[in-house]
Amino acid sequence: IRSGAGLVKALSAVQRTSSASTVHRRGVQDVAITRTGKPIIRIAGGRSSLGGHTATVFGATGFLGRYVVNRLARQGCTVVVPFREEMAKRHLKVAGDLGRVVFLEMDLRNINSIEESVRHSDIVYNLIGRDYPTKNFDFEDVHVTGAQRIADAVAKYDVDRFVHVSSYNADPNSSSEFFRTKGRGEAVVRDIFPETTIVRPAPMYGFEDRLLNKLAGITNTFTSNHMQERLRPVHVIDVAMGLEMMMTDDTTASETYELYGPQEYTMAELAELVDKEIIKTRRHINVPKRIMQPLAQLYNRAIWWSKTSADMIEREFIDQKVDPKAKTFKDLNIEPSQLKDLTFDYLQGYRSAAFYDLPPQTEREKREEKKYLHVID
Ligand code: NDP
Repeated sequence: IRSGAGLVKALSAVQRTSSASTVHRRGVQDVAITRTGKPIIRIAGGRSSLGGHTATVFGATGFLGRYVVNRLARQGCTVVVPFREEMAKRHLKVAGDLGRVVFLEMDLRNINSIEESVRHSDIVYNLIGRDYPTKNFDFEDVHVTGAQRIADAVAKYDVDRFVHVSSYNADPNSSSEFFRTKGRGEAVVRDIFPETTIVRPAPMYGFEDRLLNKLAGITNTFTSNHMQERLRPVHVIDVAMGLEMMMTDDTTASETYELYGPQEYTMAELAELVDKEIIKTRRHINVPKRIMQPLAQLYNRAIWWSKTSADMIEREFIDQKVDPKAKTFKDLNIEPSQLKDLTFDYLQGYRSAAFYDLPPQTEREKREEKKYLHVID
């Protein structure tokens, strides 16, 4: 506490010597004492500042991971990135200043590598997840056993905070194995480390998503539920912002958050929105579930990248449910973005090169959804 008071005195002395217009008052809350008594100087000076948290982000090479690493590293935190594949992590290096993004090779079956990744950190994020089973890892290995190993390491090294990213509809009794294992994973990590913050994101959209890109792509033709599943898509950057806030707000420990978008859509409504934005009509052929599921399973075994799987077909028949007991964006003081305001930015690449359009230029045009379409030829 003494050193904290000394720091505040020193800061006030600096403030007195600077000119009135450049004075930024810093409160005592800039020095945080963590649960285990570690002092952390919370900084607000940008990517080259000294101080800040040390965060480990498992699953940083994925879609959400890049936005989380970016938000942490650009405010001067040290980010430990456990990775599996050299090429998959390269883009994360430039998110932070030199030496601020630290890469460590990790395997979910190698406990030493997991412990090595968490032991110097004061917060650990687990973003690891898979939409489909692979030949080496099934859902259970990734969502339950993997999560358990990370939580064990967090408990062993008494890391101050642990944030576990689960999924919407996570439920140990679900008919989908993905949702079932996500639900069991939540219970396992809470059991090992009760202060775990659980985050259940809705289907996320953004540049690298598997939602809008799938609907806009030419290969998306087969569905089984006539696209009638209901969901509340959420902007990936809103979720990353929520995860960033959890680092500095210790009241989020032991809580469960469901992060979903402000509007509910059926998949068919989303497809219509996408078609309007890309100025093309994509065909969607409905194949009955009893035919589609075995085909999808075969396909999933034959190829090793994300395309379809039997469980993805099962998930088409499950609407997104909101848990009324869970906290939401409102409790984090975040206003989630509207999907229809962002489709232009994310989908303009799918338009034909023969024309382009400009987004609405004024507030009035935005209200009236007026856009100017320019046809070149
Ligand atoms: P991605 O599929 O884009 O990324 C998954 C990450 O997990 C990658 O970094 C991947 O590493 C890692 N990973 C997967 N399997 C293993 C394994 N066996 N061992 C080690 N690492 C592994 O996921 P998102 O970023 O989209 O999602 C983040 C989290 O949010 C996940 O837990 C996901 O289930 C959950 N979620 C996502 C939704 C969405 O719409 N995207 C919706 C609801 C929940 P590598 O790059 O090496 O393969």
